[in-house]
Amino acid sequence: MKAVVIEHFAIPLSIQQVADPAPEPHGVVVKVMANGVCRSDWHAWMGHDSDVVLPHVPGHELAGTVEAVGKDVTRWRVGDRVTVPFVGGCGHCPECHSGNHQVCDSQFQPGFTHWGSFAEYVSIHYADVNLVALPETLDFSTAASLGCRFVTSFRAVVDQGRAAPGQWVAVHGCGGVGLSAVMIATALGANVVAVDISEDALTLAHKLGAVATVNAGEVVSVVEAVREITRGGAHVSLDALGHPTTCFNSIGNLRKRGRHVQVGLMLADHSTPAIPMSQVIANELEIFGSHGMQAHRYGDMMAMIESGKLTPERLIGRRITLEQSIEALVSMDKFESAGVTVVTQF
Ligand code: ZN
Ligand code: ZN
Repeated sequence: MKAVVIEHFAIPLSIQQVADPAPEPHGVVVKVMANGVCRSDWHAWMGHDSDVVLPHVPGHELAGTVEAVGKDVTRWRVGDRVTVPFVGGCGHCPECHSGNHQVCDSQFQPGFTHWGSFAEYVSIHYADVNLVALPETLDFSTAASLGCRFVTSFRAVVDQGRAAPGQWVAVHGCGGVGLSAVMIATALGANVVAVDISEDALTLAHKLGAVATVNAGEVVSVVEAVREITRGGAHVSLDALGHPTTCFNSIGNLRKRGRHVQVGLMLADHSTPAIPMSQVIANELEIFGSHGMQAHRYGDMMAMIESGKLTPERLIGRRITLEQSIEALVSMDKFESAGVTVVTQF
């Protein structure tokens, strides 16, 4: 099969012919019909992710059809239209037994712990636990765009942040993750304040439902600006970018007993950001992470997509070929692309 292969970290990638994957006894092989290009892929290419062993095929935001089925798989057949969360569970560790497959003790992450979906085919482990069936009405590009940023935002806003109707939700960083969070929090009936340094991103956030926006490059203090808009601070605040500044602001702009959710990745030089811990104590703030979402939690999100309350297809920017994906991947750190880029030709 054709695949984008990382031979050396931070050195331009190439498309190569590699062996087709075979399914594990508990797994399937998916024919990839769409693959999202994500900043996590850029981190994998740069060598920031310790799971990655070279040579490596990146890619974790995928949708496609089941091509081959392992002998122990009971729920899936060849031809089924499917997607997967970017973290797959084993199904039998204590975390999986508690329903928290997103933090499985022996988790499977296509494109990190194993070869991923910048390829014609990808092997997915523990298929009965991790595959999600696609509704007939959901196209492959949109489905691929869910698996990482959108589901992580859904879990961040709904399960971790527990945003409620009428509450203020601040979203710091309006890339793919942040815009997803704006849409999801708005659909729940929350009032969203979107924060970014790009007017284009803020305009898009406003179109997706944000009732107020803050241009972080034009105010003296983002924390004060959000506190003023929300009359005392946000109930829930997300760092959707993953940067020490946005993390600090997201915690700083909370009202008492507010909840910060760290959604953007903090890797390499950014892995130990400063946190206003005295404020966390005095105001009884809560700090959460959000690490994908379990396959069994997709049902609520899919229902909101099918009913039209969530429209993730609006977040898709460009559709490109596997050849074009190399350039898209290596330039992911430049914050330029509006919306989610999806590979749809392999
Ligand atoms: Zn991703
Ligand atoms: Zn597990």
